[in-house]
Amino acid sequence: MKFASTRNPGTEVSFREAVFAGLAPDGGLYQPTSVPDLGKLIAGFDAGASTADIGSAVAAALFAPELPAEAADRVARRAFTFDPALVPLTGDIRILELFHGPSCAFKDFGASFLAAVMEEFLTREASRAVILTATSGDTGSAVARAFHNRENIEVVILYPSGRVSPLQEKQLTTLGGNITALEVKGSFDDCQRMVKAAFVDRPLNDRLGLTSANSINLGRLIPQAFYYIYAAVRLPAAERKEGPVFCVPSGNFGNLTAGVMASQWGLSVRRFIAATNVNKVVPEYLESGIYAPRPSVPTISNAMDVGDPSNFERLESIFGGSREKMRRLIEGIFVTDDETRETIRRVYRERGMFLDPHTALGVRAAERFLASGAGKGPVVTLATAHPGKFLEVVEEASGLRPPLPPRLEESLRLPKSSVVVGNAAEDLKKFLLEKFG
Ligand SMILES: *Cc1c(COP(=O)(O)O)cnc(C)c1O
Repeated sequence: MKFASTRNPGTEVSFREAVFAGLAPDGGLYQPTSVPDLGKLIAGFDAGASTADIGSAVAAALFAPELPAEAADRVARRAFTFDPALVPLTGDIRILELFHGPSCAFKDFGASFLAAVMEEFLTREASRAVILTATSGDTGSAVARAFHNRENIEVVILYPSGRVSPLQEKQLTTLGGNITALEVKGSFDDCQRMVKAAFVDRPLNDRLGLTSANSINLGRLIPQAFYYIYAAVRLPAAERKEGPVFCVPSGNFGNLTAGVMASQWGLSVRRFIAATNVNKVVPEYLESGIYAPRPSVPTISNAMDVGDPSNFERLESIFGGSREKMRRLIEGIFVTDDETRETIRRVYRERGMFLDPHTALGVRAAERFLASGAGKGPVVTLATAHPGKFLEVVEEASGLRPPLPPRLEESLRLPKSSVVVGNAAEDLKKFLLEKFG
């Protein structure tokens, strides 16, 4: 399979190039240039297939000869040492828990696969890379944990000193080994500016092999398709054949785009619900045809506070720019903070189940879909984070404190280790050259 920029379909690159470049040189996003028919392969998975089993077979089908079957299998088994859980909520709504990985959020699936793929290529080529990334708190931990102890890869994570939560800081600063946490005396914007400056410094890039691992990377996007297949094969035969509805709490729309790709490859999906908070540019577009990106507003589902979703460009390219085609597969529903809180409270009271705010928003959207009469179940709602990651919101809404996931509790007990740096581009460059030059 070859890949090309959404803005320049004529220039093809390999999977390896797409993975290490992240963003295409023209500013576009890499997309596959063909749509493989994996219908038979997908139909052949049985209900006991693990994410590693599915990932191994699908990655081989997509990425051979760059990743021959044996390499694809190695990558998938290194990446997916954890699986989702599909649990019933009501007769019509099931929850696909995607928070059983190292950082207790669904981004673990993409980050782990990207890390394993990079490790595979670098080991083969006997070269190394330095991953450079800035985080405002939550997203950095999936990357840090995914790359921890990978061969030939160093990771440098910049975070704003004193501006991330204590739990988030512990997740970034307690791993050690090949993970370095740079505590920047400045804001998140400073961190981002420093990283950008390093990436445009050609000599520095060539010398150190700098690369990013951000969420638009195709090597993070594609593996997110695997858990849609994982969920579908676990449904009763009739439901599996007809295809479920997937409800996807969305911010940058990477998660949803991966599901749409799985359906293109031959997974039966009846419909996708694009569930957002009041940052609802995509539901608005589906409704009106007008795409109006704007600054985001803060909500309690803050991992989805996105006013100009980065993967919208991919969705448009998949549907050839046709809103009608997009609407045939995707329905947009937005949910307010009050509704999200009410859902956390009610689901806890009625079912004894804690939902994090992003998942609760998805459940509310699924309920509305079912109540509209147009839609019938089953609706598989993706649970994107462990409720213990959003303690304050969940406690306030449900009246009870959800348990912290053991992995996070463990990092709270470990000593923090960070390198404090100033907020100038030169400070970062100096650190990188001293450490890796
Ligand atoms: C990143 C994130 C989302 C949004 O996912 P996208 O792929 O950006 O749409 C939803 N929930 C949680 C908890 C997240 O971390």
